[in-house]
Amino acid sequence: MQTDVIIIGTGISAKLTALYLSLHRLKVIVFPNRAIKEDTSNLVTFFSSGSIKFLLEILEGDESILNYESIKQLRCCQYDQLDKENFEFSFDNNKEDLLGTIIPNKKINKLLDNFILSNENIHISSNELISDIRHQHNQVEVITKSSPSFFAKLLIVADGKNSMIKRYADFQFITHDFEQTALSITAKMDRKSQNIAYQYFTPDGPLALLPYSSSYSSIVWSLKKNSNILKLDENKLQEEINSILGSAVNNFEIISLQKFNLTFSFTKKLFSERIAIIGDTAHSIHPIAGQGLNLIIKDITCLTKQLIKYKSLGYELGDVIALNEYNNLRKPDNVAYSFGTLILDEVFSIKNKHIRKLTNSLFKTFNKNKTLKNYFVNSATGYDYFNNL
Ligand SMILES: Cc1cc2nc3c(=O)[nH]c(=O)nc-3n(C[C@H](O)[C@H](O)[C@H](O)COP(=O)(O)OP(=O)(O)OC[C@H]3O[C@@H](n4cnc5c(N)ncnc54)[C@H](O)[C@@H]3O)c2cc1C
Repeated sequence: MQTDVIIIGTGISAKLTALYLSLHRLKVIVFPNRAIKEDTSNLVTFFSSGSIKFLLEILEGDESILNYESIKQLRCCQYDQLDKENFEFSFDNNKEDLLGTIIPNKKINKLLDNFILSNENIHISSNELISDIRHQHNQVEVITKSSPSFFAKLLIVADGKNSMIKRYADFQFITHDFEQTALSITAKMDRKSQNIAYQYFTPDGPLALLPYSSSYSSIVWSLKKNSNILKLDENKLQEEINSILGSAVNNFEIISLQKFNLTFSFTKKLFSERIAIIGDTAHSIHPIAGQGLNLIIKDITCLTKQLIKYKSLGYELGDVIALNEYNNLRKPDNVAYSFGTLILDEVFSIKNKHIRKLTNSLFKTFNKNKTLKNYFVNSATGYDYFNNL
């Protein structure tokens, strides 16, 4: 079977890539490693205002994601009972009305599944187990155990951070174990202010309060694996979180709790011959800044634009010139956010009193610098990127 692009993976990255390519009239075959199942995680994603525009383009007329609470301010607060000078600063959007919107992953997956299943340009290969990947002249061959080979001009691998691609192509990764577990909590609460997300820097690790509807919010608390917080029963955990959120919420109640191991992975190059990698396969970063999927969305738009641009100039789809440009254009942003969040996590893990004092005063200086804050907001919301596409 012949197609333009083959995608391996069934996560949000694979689905978004398939839909965006099909929007640009490319034919796609998706290889899930299992039948598409309902997402059971309680994770939510902070989609920046730029990513929301991208989603609305893909979801052609379906605006149901706009029913989720829009975030107009991000408040960052240090929460340390031993420190008398806890810092606090906030980010507001300066160019548009909102910073972004928080949407449960389950909702996004369900929407994307519906669009993919009714899309004529996207074929889902059912339960085919890939046994080999080979290069054949100017195309790539995907060999399965049960059917004749599949051929495409380009293979995109988006099967997550434990990707199978390491077996088939020479991609090099920088990896790091944060030795942290993220508690992902769905909670019911009454908030005193609407349209505000919070990031609390606690001595145990950063805790994000991510509201997505008037009564429901998600809490993501990244904790060292040996943290005593991970040993608390649900009632004690509820008390502990309540004392942190104190002034911002009332009637806080945990509805569900899941745990995620946090590891870092970063590829030195986003492509090899006729293969591109996307999503957590390419870079899996700390959730501290809520940028993982937002970076991936920028990668997807960049890759697609390069493929289309070079195709219209007469190059073959998936030509190395397009893949090289994709790699070069995305490198600075991917490096900045991947390693920036790595450093941010390290900075907040430092317990030394004097170094903490120094970093706190740096944050206070940062808070006073409007130009720097605006630059950061324009980058994190995707404003600069999507307006220069
Ligand atoms: C606690 C936490 C909070 C986060 N918060 C945010 C946030 O607020 N904002 C943000 O932008 N990002 C956030 N992220 C990051 C974001 O969730 C991820 O970057 C994103 O979900 C990665 O999606 P993916 O599709 O690349 O990978 P995955 O979700 O890992 O999907 C990979 C898929 O490929 C499938 N697969 C595996 N092997 C094969 C195979 N051999 N063949 C075919 N398919 C295969 C898997 O079954 C899986 O479905 C957060 C992450 C965490 C852990």
